[in-house]
Amino acid sequence: MTDCDLVLRGTVLTMDGEKRALLDGFVAVSGNKIVGVGQNRDCTFKGKEELGGEGHIVIPGLVNTHAHLVQGCIRSMAEGTTFEERFFGFYYPMTGACDEERSYVSAMPPILDLVRRGVTTTADDHFTHKHKRSIDGVLRAVRDAGMRCRMARLMLSDPKNTQEGFRETLDVGLAETERVKKEWENDKTTVTASTIGITYCAPEEFREIAAWTRKNNRQFDVHAPSVMDTRYLAERRGWKGGSFDWMDHEGILGPNVIAAHAQTLRPGEADLIRDRGVKISLVPDMEQVLGLVEFQARHYIENNVVCGIGLDGPVVAYGHDLWTAMRALLTAQRMGDQHRKQMGDKSIHWTGYEMIFGSAELALELATIGGAKALGMDDTIGSLEVGKEADIVLIDRRGETQMSPPASLVQNLVYGNGPSPEAVKRVFVQGKAVIKDGEHVKVDRRKAVEASDKLQATLLEETDARKFVRIRSPYRWM
Ligand SMILES: [Zn+2]
Repeated sequence: MTDCDLVLRGTVLTMDGEKRALLDGFVAVSGNKIVGVGQNRDCTFKGKEELGGEGHIVIPGLVNTHAHLVQGCIRSMAEGTTFEERFFGFYYPMTGACDEERSYVSAMPPILDLVRRGVTTTADDHFTHKHKRSIDGVLRAVRDAGMRCRMARLMLSDPKNTQEGFRETLDVGLAETERVKKEWENDKTTVTASTIGITYCAPEEFREIAAWTRKNNRQFDVHAPSVMDTRYLAERRGWKGGSFDWMDHEGILGPNVIAAHAQTLRPGEADLIRDRGVKISLVPDMEQVLGLVEFQARHYIENNVVCGIGLDGPVVAYGHDLWTAMRALLTAQRMGDQHRKQMGDKSIHWTGYEMIFGSAELALELATIGGAKALGMDDTIGSLEVGKEADIVLIDRRGETQMSPPASLVQNLVYGNGPSPEAVKRVFVQGKAVIKDGEHVKVDRRKAVEASDKLQATLLEETDARKFVRIRSPYRWM
């Protein structure tokens, strides 16, 4: 027998290259690393702590590839508002009024949503720098939650698309990125520079930021294409093609680019994305909530483009639940396919089941190893393999009625919107438990809710945004 720190037993969904799913398996951990994975009957490890067994599921920590965590304070407020109302009425004002301490309070509930449901790694795109240390508040909350983070600090300067007070010069944006990088990067956190998208800064600045990311060997994380890109490019650059075409023309498009949403491509752009090794963060839950039936993931999946699943900010990703997003990946694509078929799209061949896109297994793959690849972290995390770091979720399904009976285990998990938080027995990051029996080991979620409730009330008054609350509610609130 070999001594180790921890042995987890149960059905082990490894997400390794062979897609091994061990019905009665084990994972052994020593320090921050996985030292053994295999069939329980062959296990030669003896752990100081041993958990799981019959009725348990062991999966890699989930990876969320897109978020704006500071938007916790405006959670769900998008519903019932127009674009103008939300963007200029409360979106910028309320998140912009968050200094370091407020950003910490604002980000903590969505962070707890993630980690309590098994997400161990999150990307974040932070672009409200009215208070320069707002981003530090988010990073502090992520650190206290014990998660991994790929933080992108987005610089905005375009006078048309950016509200007064949120614009920065390129020099300031990059200098601040350097500061945040120096203060926060460690073995769990990386920091990079970006901008929201093509229309949010001058083309020269866009090029410079992309060059910074290549020089620093970091990701260039960009929302693309956006609905405004084509007009902007035509007006400002005389460019007739699509957003990815333009980025390629500028020499920006390469394996360090990750594009969030990446919907409504122009013909040929999907092939370009594949050929340049660009990564995609699909955001299906938000797309579906907004009723965007043209959601398209199929051309990426079928062309082996690296895809992860992301949530976006809580202002539009209301429940902030990656399990719901896994389910939404399937339902959004399937409804889109049906829509395209009804619209007479000849590329859709309905033969009974051929048209049904994907599977629960595919969705779980995208939310684990897919996300790790999309964030360029798959040498460290994303699967349960010897040598990788021990980011692991142990689920106790013995009281989970939505997962019983277990013949279709992964389907039960994904279509049932995941395990309930109390069934999440342990969440480990680098071999350390951050969640025990559904509760965070360090952060008191009741206190986090209390502080976040109080912050929202303050911000609504301070920024005069109260008028948007329940603005079109059919209820008689009294
Ligand atoms: Zn976003």
